[in-house]
Amino acid sequence: MTNRQVVAAIFDFDGTLVDSDEALVAPFITLGVPREQISFGHAVAPECERLGISLDAYVDAYDTEVTRPFPGVLAMLGSLGRWAICSNKHPKSAQAEVTRLGWHPEVAMYADAFDWHHKSLGSMLTLMGLSAAQVVMVGDSNGDAECASEVGCEMVWAGWNPRVRDSDPSERLLEGIVLDEPGDLFALFPGLRLVG
Ligand SMILES: [Mg+2]
Repeated sequence: MTNRQVVAAIFDFDGTLVDSDEALVAPFITLGVPREQISFGHAVAPECERLGISLDAYVDAYDTEVTRPFPGVLAMLGSLGRWAICSNKHPKSAQAEVTRLGWHPEVAMYADAFDWHHKSLGSMLTLMGLSAAQVVMVGDSNGDAECASEVGCEMVWAGWNPRVRDSDPSERLLEGIVLDEPGDLFALFPGLRLVG
């Protein structure tokens, strides 16, 4: 499958661009949440509420210095034309990390942009001036697949995250394609490549 209509990639952040599971889990553990109650891909505010902890305490305990990009992500981003980040993360944590990494997405929307509810792609598409047919959502969770499904855009799974690679396909909301490497995006969507 090659789709030449797609000209921009919208990435989830945690578990997709950066290997952040342990960084996300650590504040919950510090604040007394049992590890088995923790899962990924949720909007940060309702998730803190569900787990009975303060959002501010979570953000204060979150270490913005430890996450690293997955192998191949830096090279892939360097070859991309248009790209954006759409994340359920707290803006304070996310902005600190994106700044540390030196990344400059065209648009970055975090939990506050969605009034702390689960993220969605409608306003992102408006800001980018693109239709759903022109973007691909790249993510690691069913929340990301839901975003793609809501607007009807392509969805690919970040199979370079071992949690995605080793997951049961029947647990994925959308079949989508599971990519092995970040750079594999360009074979599927040649229009993503930086021109010039
Ligand atoms: Mg994620």
